[in-house]
Amino acid sequence: MLGLLQLDGYQLVADPAGADFVVVNTCGFIERAREESFATIDEMLALKREGKIRGVIVSGCLAEREKEKLLESRPDIDQLVGVFGREHVTKVADRLLGGLFEQRSVFRPAPTRPLDDKGRLRITPRHFAFLKISEGCDRLCTFCAIPKMRGKHASKPIEEVLVEATELAQDGVRELVIVAQDTTYYGMDLYGEPRLVELLRRLHEVPGIEWIRLMYLYPMYFSDTLIDVIASSNRIVPYLDLPLQHINDVMLRRMQRRVNRAETEQLLARLRSRVKDLVMRTTFITGFPGETDEQFSELVEFVRQQRFERLGVFSYSFEADTPSARLPDHLPQQVKEARREQLMAVQQEIAFAWNAGQVGKRIDVILDRPVPDQKDAWIGRGRGDAPDVDGIVYVTGKKLAAGKIVPCEIVATREYDLVSVAVGKPR
Ligand code: SF4
Repeated sequence: MLGLLQLDGYQLVADPAGADFVVVNTCGFIERAREESFATIDEMLALKREGKIRGVIVSGCLAEREKEKLLESRPDIDQLVGVFGREHVTKVADRLLGGLFEQRSVFRPAPTRPLDDKGRLRITPRHFAFLKISEGCDRLCTFCAIPKMRGKHASKPIEEVLVEATELAQDGVRELVIVAQDTTYYGMDLYGEPRLVELLRRLHEVPGIEWIRLMYLYPMYFSDTLIDVIASSNRIVPYLDLPLQHINDVMLRRMQRRVNRAETEQLLARLRSRVKDLVMRTTFITGFPGETDEQFSELVEFVRQQRFERLGVFSYSFEADTPSARLPDHLPQQVKEARREQLMAVQQEIAFAWNAGQVGKRIDVILDRPVPDQKDAWIGRGRGDAPDVDGIVYVTGKKLAAGKIVPCEIVATREYDLVSVAVGKPR
């Protein structure tokens, strides 16, 4: 949307107050995300009432999911743009600024081919970028509203992904963060079989890309060849984000995850034994309908055994339009929340102990930004840290700059973060 607006002559400004209009790009996945989206919409509408902006456009998943209900509850919203209406954002902006309000929304059905992401105007730092390789999801996890909002799985052809990656590399990107709803399934719809391996081999050849990071790998279709490609690569970072959601077999069946505990354990063992220095991130849901104390304890014990370096825990969010809403035995909110806190407390010890074990080691750190008001102090990330979700690495050193990769020695820990000094030449 930013790229299209820029092409059409619109200019991005840093502060919403004073802008002609704002686009609030929303998430509508779970209750907490919706609350955040509503809060931002309301903040922008308050600016509109104060006369500081002329109009508010709401786009993305919440717009898609709540459709006209949003316009009813917040009539001051000028325009709604659904997930696949985003190609029309410039028309919507023109309409808004031209005072034409006969039509106030643009929704389009999910396309069978993902929308093009070339010509982006990026607002992430210059040296890293998210690269979406497919859109939508064919799984039917019973708690998840994503397939409803974003449609069936549709992969971008390999050649198109390569064009985008090359464009990003030429724009200064050194780290590509590969995203999709279901990364391991990449290619199935287009080629009749998963093609992530081939895509990774080809991305390897893109000049300028030094780190490739894989997010949202569904545990099915994790072939030995895929593990080999990851293990033998000097560019694919030894970091995997593999959402598991639960480990108890009854829960996994109720969630319709189509993998069981034994298969999951085998996969984790294969990954650990073959990918050197692997850092693994996963996510779990606590308090799914019917989860007993024993089933939750099994999950806690599993987390203790596996010692994931990174872990996200969400309490089950009741979503009326998902199949799990109709399951019996929903748990009280305080139980779901207490279990989430208990699991996070267990994880905190594991994460802090892992961090303590890093002290004295040498790692490469990519520098994201300077520490405000401090000389020669930077905030960066190691190969084991994805932007926005994981910890950070503080770096002290001279002649450093954003986007440089610098060898560092870890000297201390700061809760989930690491503290280091630069020990080699930045490149
Ligand atoms: S795989 Fe992920 S996006 Fe797809 S239905 Fe399951 S949780 Fe939702």
